[in-house]
Amino acid sequence: MKVAIYWFRNDLRLADNPALSLAAREADRLLCIYCHPAAAESRWGFARVGPHRRHFLRDALDDLARNLRAAGNALIEIEGDAATLLPQWIRTCGAGCLFCESINAPEELAEVERLQSAGVDVRPLWQSTMLCPADLPFSPAQLPDVFTVFRQAVEKAITLPALSLPPVQKLPAAPAPGLDQALKDHLVRQDSPAAEIAAPATASGVSSFPYRLPAFMGGETAASAHLQRYFSGGLAGTYKETRDQLSGTAYSTKFSPYLALGCISARQVYTALKAYEAARGANQSTYWIWFELLWRDYFRFLHFKYGRALYRSGGLNDAPPCAHDAAAFARWCRGETGEPLVDAAMHELAATGYLSNRLRQVAASYLIYDLGCDWRAGAAWFEAQLVDYDVYSNQGNWLYIAGRGTDPRGGRRFNPVKQAQEHDARGRYRALWSSPL
Ligand SMILES: Cc1cc2nc3c(=O)[nH]c(=O)nc-3n(C[C@H](O)[C@H](O)[C@H](O)COP(=O)(O)OP(=O)(O)OC[C@H]3O[C@@H](n4cnc5c(N)ncnc54)[C@H](O)[C@@H]3O)c2cc1C
Repeated sequence: MKVAIYWFRNDLRLADNPALSLAAREADRLLCIYCHPAAAESRWGFARVGPHRRHFLRDALDDLARNLRAAGNALIEIEGDAATLLPQWIRTCGAGCLFCESINAPEELAEVERLQSAGVDVRPLWQSTMLCPADLPFSPAQLPDVFTVFRQAVEKAITLPALSLPPVQKLPAAPAPGLDQALKDHLVRQDSPAAEIAAPATASGVSSFPYRLPAFMGGETAASAHLQRYFSGGLAGTYKETRDQLSGTAYSTKFSPYLALGCISARQVYTALKAYEAARGANQSTYWIWFELLWRDYFRFLHFKYGRALYRSGGLNDAPPCAHDAAAFARWCRGETGEPLVDAAMHELAATGYLSNRLRQVAASYLIYDLGCDWRAGAAWFEAQLVDYDVYSNQGNWLYIAGRGTDPRGGRRFNPVKQAQEHDARGRYRALWSSPL
């Protein structure tokens, strides 16, 4: 009998999850595990995971547990160092190998390397992009440095992503490992297939606070509901005109939190986009959703090419190390810089865990160019706060604004006064977020 472990990482779903489908085919018994890292501080002196991300993840794991149960399996949650704990679980349940999705960022790669050094047969599978790396018209190591060149090459080669896979309906049963005290000490949750898991109060995806701000309900069920609802209305047809607005639920897709934890895949979004275009017609707006999803892929593929170099203070262009003003950084985090648009943005981020793309750019630029701070501190603050934190997109966008990535134009500086005139002419956004919630 083949026993295996499936290690959920940023792929908390049953549909279009090729790594999970592979594990389900290969194993006779499958133990499904999620490992929470032990609480940790960033080097800038605050918790790496803030409350919004924690809540969103909690929803997503509860939903995953319900869906696994419906497929005849169960979720085990543990807390601690994955590379230390997973080999113990492998031994305890007699598993021959461990399946998981592949994550091409330094900390996540190091986890897999340590598992392999501990003798674990790890079977990572790349699945988080819309485009399959093997379908690209160049090897990922030869990725064009300029996004436009990448996009044009992809579009010319008509590299269409494969359509998404249906949900795994039935999983092999879980083995019943006898747990010793060392394993029990790190156990957060152990479901059995028969366990009752309370249904969420609502599973409708993105709803609104009284201020018409997004309130994100995590999980694959909520993500599917949101995807379906977004494309059943006409929003995709006007996305390009609305995407630069600052607040509300409808001006952009709000797919990012679900994509970040893998509650939906980029291929599922693409499939829904194509169905919308077939039914209601393609236009510049529907094209622009594809365009933005390509940016997401591009930042992922950049990691194939440059890896750890993307995490240096100087980034890719050997710029001198950044200066840093710790007091100014603390004021920026609290929304007390004295620049109304930036402060409003930082208040919204702290209150909701979400910020429009435009305001992310303005806030990041202000930290780097006006306050003279290290871009990596800003990236770490976004990591802690954003419900859609995604290592590739966060790192890539911060490097881009800081002018330390691949962008040939150098850094992108945004004048907050001009941005406020253009995007918040009546001052409604600044008034809404003039103080913390
Ligand atoms: C400094 C900074 C940090 C950022 N950090 C993150 C992050 O941690 N996680 C994250 O998902 N996005 C990040 N972004 C990108 C972007 O702001 C968000 O993806 C977007 O605002 C999410 O809202 P949405 O889903 O409504 O996007 P939409 O405008 O509806 O776009 C559709 C999808 O395209 C992708 N996308 C859109 N813009 C970008 C972009 N600039 N880069 C990469 N993918 C993009 C996202 O997956 C998004 O869900 C960051 C941007 C900046 C400037």
